[in-house]
Amino acid sequence: MKITDLRCAVIGKHPIVRIVTDEGLYGLGEVEFTKPYLKPFILHFREALIGEDPTDVERVMLRIRQRGSFKPYGAAVSAIEHALWDIAGKAANVPVYKLLGGKVRDKVRVYNGSIRRKRSGDNPEDYAADVKWMMERPEKFFMVKQGISFHSNMKHSVEGFHYGVAQPKHYHGAMDQGVISERGFNHMLDCVAAMKEVLGDKVSLALDCGPGWMLPDAIRFAQAVEKYNLMWLEDMLTGDYVPWVNPQAYRELTTSTSTPIHTGEQIYLRHNFKELIETQAVRVIGPDPADVGGIAELKWITEHAYMHSILMAPHGTANGLLGLGALINVCATLPANYIAFEYPSASEPFWDEIVIGLPKQIVRDSMVDVLEAPGLGVDIDAKAGKQYLREEDAGFFD
Ligand SMILES: [Mg+2]
Repeated sequence: MKITDLRCAVIGKHPIVRIVTDEGLYGLGEVEFTKPYLKPFILHFREALIGEDPTDVERVMLRIRQRGSFKPYGAAVSAIEHALWDIAGKAANVPVYKLLGGKVRDKVRVYNGSIRRKRSGDNPEDYAADVKWMMERPEKFFMVKQGISFHSNMKHSVEGFHYGVAQPKHYHGAMDQGVISERGFNHMLDCVAAMKEVLGDKVSLALDCGPGWMLPDAIRFAQAVEKYNLMWLEDMLTGDYVPWVNPQAYRELTTSTSTPIHTGEQIYLRHNFKELIETQAVRVIGPDPADVGGIAELKWITEHAYMHSILMAPHGTANGLLGLGALINVCATLPANYIAFEYPSASEPFWDEIVIGLPKQIVRDSMVDVLEAPGLGVDIDAKAGKQYLREEDAGFFD
């Protein structure tokens, strides 16, 4: 089998990859809705792929893996990797999890990091009402993740929250950072207390915190919330869109507290997890299979983390419903350090109508059934999907 074309259409806000073969089989991959601008970056891999056998996934990846990087640039390589696995699964007539070594679970645990309503404000009572709403969702998530500090609006709305230089609001990718004021610090503690008051020990809580904290603030906060038994504190020092890791500082933080410290959603490739894992710098890692270099990359990283007693909770909030198929397939195969993946819901309602292969109610009791269809188990209904194509992408499904 040979690849005859690599196509990319921006549907809604997601760049969708479609790899076409000379045997009529095709594979799909999806990029986060936050990265519509990646289309030309994806298409520049076309020449490297044409003529290759897509079922030799690793051989094809060796041609392109080196051309990715930390978020957002690992996404192009990752989405192509998903599409290759999709074809490989269809060619072998098995779900992709079989090709990754087989499943160890029939249902995969997920947590709520994407199902949201607009919060009424940034005060403790707003946070409390917010998690109450989340708790009552039909998905019955075992855990919710909430943004605080630099990963939330409170950095703007709480006067004097920090002593750093404020970055423009709503500019995706700029990093607010600096020393947090005592007022800001106490405000965060009050919000955590208010949420735990509602959640009790029924639903677990994790906090997405940054990046942008200075190490002394991070240590003090992680110690101050120890009594709440949080699942983790995410991306305090480095993280989302930061193109470096600081394992030494993370290790200082991790060894200072019993609160589990988490990072990794922006990191590209297993090599960049090596030091984090081997020096026990964090307790939980959260690579995103749509950023880290693909689902096999995620599998290898998880196995390495398992041998070092480090937990795995993959990122995925914006990956869309095709991205969900990729997450389900790989997470079905992961060892016992797996906690749950961040469930991606449809970024716009039309996705629920054009994606086929998923049940009507996808999440029950915080679990998702493993998909048994060949490939990644999800597809776009071409007839229904066509109406959402932009003019320049008209031939995408042909
Ligand atoms: Mg995050």
